[in-house]
Amino acid sequence: MEKPNIYFDLDRTLFDTVKSGQNYRAALEKIGIGTEKYEQIYSNYKSTLESSTDFDPKKLLDLLTKNFNVSPEKLAQSFWEKGNFVLFPETMKTLEKLSQNNDLRLFSEGNKNWQKGKIEKTEIGEFFDLEASLIEKRKLSPEVIAEIVQGAMVIDDKKEVIKQLASQRPDLHLVWINRNNEEELTGQNIRTIRDLSELLE
Ligand SMILES: [Mg+2]
Repeated sequence: MEKPNIYFDLDRTLFDTVKSGQNYRAALEKIGIGTEKYEQIYSNYKSTLESSTDFDPKKLLDLLTKNFNVSPEKLAQSFWEKGNFVLFPETMKTLEKLSQNNDLRLFSEGNKNWQKGKIEKTEIGEFFDLEASLIEKRKLSPEVIAEIVQGAMVIDDKKEVIKQLASQRPDLHLVWINRNNEEELTGQNIRTIRDLSELLE
């Protein structure tokens, strides 16, 4: 029998984007990347992006190399330190358990190399069918939405993702992870959780 399919969003669902961002900033500061100048370069770079999910670490590191007297190797080494990349406390255990009886896939929006880097550093790749995963620049485009397996479960922290899937794919079982204590989302086939371990109940 085929295993049920579960799709996980990556950022702020499995991966602690905020904490990881603080970690790599702190690591860069240690090698002389001053916070104030860094923030200026970072926000200038972000303002050039059409979507915040278009963030490409290579572009940021290139800009930092141009603006600070640090070698690109040293910069990359500090930025990519394994310890900078952190998951939510319950992520590993939840994936370990769910991967035993389910076919897990990622449903993630972002720069492919950036997302792959996070997967590698946090060592969650072994729990997923990465070939069948959807890691896309615009994951809510009709072509990508159409690729989600019929009747699958999808877990995401973004309300707009859940809402759009609810309207376009009524066959899906949607789980909204309410990380920031927002107002509840209601609708058919939408379950709200606050912690991934609720998926094991
Ligand atoms: Mg997310």
